[in-house]
Amino acid sequence: MILTKEEWLAEAKERFGSNTLFWKFVCPICETVIEARDYKKAGALESAVGFNCIGRYLKDTQKAFINTKIIKGKPCNYTSGGLFNFNPVEVNCDGIIVKVFDFYKAKIDG
Ligand SMILES: [Zn+2]
Repeated sequence: MILTKEEWLAEAKERFGSNTLFWKFVCPICETVIEARDYKKAGALESAVGFNCIGRYLKDTQKAFINTKIIKGKPCNYTSGGLFNFNPVEVNCDGIIVKVFDFYKAKIDG
């Protein structure tokens, strides 16, 4: 399913509020939950948010396509700008389909 940009933004606001710094994404490879402000803290550009794993900006990182066993929740060096794009969410941005990380979906008890 392809979301419109408006639908995607509405979902983000509903989940995390309107401050984009608190939006949370999940890396499709290592499943690390990354808050948008974590990128900022790590010195990444805004364009990395939802496209690159936070591990690309950290020192001790798993290699997404080299390590045969990826430990879940430990940042990796995955980027969707490379040869393989595993981003699960498709957003139509003015006619261009952009694949992004999924939002973090907190488990709701009961
Ligand atoms: Zn990762």
